[in-house]
Amino acid sequence: MFMINNKQNMIKISLMIWIFLCIFPDSLVASKKVQQAPNFSEWLDKLKVEAIKKRISKETLEKTLFKVKPLKRVIELDRKQPEFSMTFSDYIKKSVTKKRVRQGRQLLGKYKNVLDSVSGKFDVQQRFLIAFWGLETNYGNYTGSFPIVPALVTLAHDRRRASFFRNQLFAALKLIDQGHIRYNARGSWAGAMGNHQFMPTTYRDFATDFDQDGAADLWNSKPDTFASAANYLKKAGWDSSKNWGREVKLPTDFEFGLSGLKERRKLYDWGLMGVKKTDGSALPEVDIDACLLLPSGYRGPAFLVYSNFRSILIWNRSIYYALAVGLLADQLIFEKPVLDTPLVVEPAMSRSEIKEIQKNLEVRGYNPGGVDGILGSKTRLAIKSFQKNSQQPEDGHPSVELLKTLRNSGL
Ligand code: CA
Repeated sequence: MFMINNKQNMIKISLMIWIFLCIFPDSLVASKKVQQAPNFSEWLDKLKVEAIKKRISKETLEKTLFKVKPLKRVIELDRKQPEFSMTFSDYIKKSVTKKRVRQGRQLLGKYKNVLDSVSGKFDVQQRFLIAFWGLETNYGNYTGSFPIVPALVTLAHDRRRASFFRNQLFAALKLIDQGHIRYNARGSWAGAMGNHQFMPTTYRDFATDFDQDGAADLWNSKPDTFASAANYLKKAGWDSSKNWGREVKLPTDFEFGLSGLKERRKLYDWGLMGVKKTDGSALPEVDIDACLLLPSGYRGPAFLVYSNFRSILIWNRSIYYALAVGLLADQLIFEKPVLDTPLVVEPAMSRSEIKEIQKNLEVRGYNPGGVDGILGSKTRLAIKSFQKNSQQPEDGHPSVELLKTLRNSGL
């Protein structure tokens, strides 16, 4: 009898838990989220022991970790998520401005000698070193004002991405030990430093003391700054015999499903499919791999991107960022409009709208990679599949129209 009661109770409890989870599906995740970070001073003591084991010098430890306190503002910024995802049009308008182009051209002239020797050694076109500089810190105008070590200590102590930032913190301490960065160096809230915003491990792996004064100084030394960026790009597979890609014109009957970084074809083959330069002339008949991108959907500008585009994505995996680098770099040496195709004016989508698209796709059996409100490659691929099955242009582009279609279409 006792056993039966017990069993019935168990069933009741399981049922109640099940109902609770159905009503509050995020409760399990939420309980994980509120998990407290460990007691700071105990955590810091253990960190110091590990730092000693990693042969960080006593002097560096005294200067950096002895009185360090977590920075509340860093956690606030880490938790802050933009409500709207920026459209490609807005991104380009903000990042490739006339002023930035003008300044970039001046700097290309001003630093010609050092750029000549850096690009001679690392084999990376000069305009790209300037373009990255412009996008990362507006040519060194804002390299960040957060103290690097306390910011990294805060993020390493916090639970969200502790192991990533612990690794970055030890790399930063080592850089201080080696005399490359000052113990009170400043940078972004997440620990990016200098003119090109290198994270400590990137600094460790790619920073170059090109002026040979004993330290790679990515704030004050232009030779070190440019050489480090060029070294990073070269190691990321840069090929100076090619550009990053180009804007192109598509034929009216183009099959949009061929867009995306997974669809790689020879430039020559794109030409055979009717893809042309924006002035209507034929693409060069060269044997290089290219992918077609439609960052504003099928109504907006189209791009063919080459292998160097993938190197830019190693630096920063945002497609908008990589296109902005390429477009800005071109502006520095070519007299032409930023884009030949007019930018598409479309409303920015909110996180909840993206979530609704993802939820709708999931219900229909597609895999958008979770319902997180973030536009990743899986969400774009799921949109493409839905568009294919509902006879719409397969550009993988999330839009208000797409959301309406999903709302109105039956399962
Ligand atoms: Ca130096």
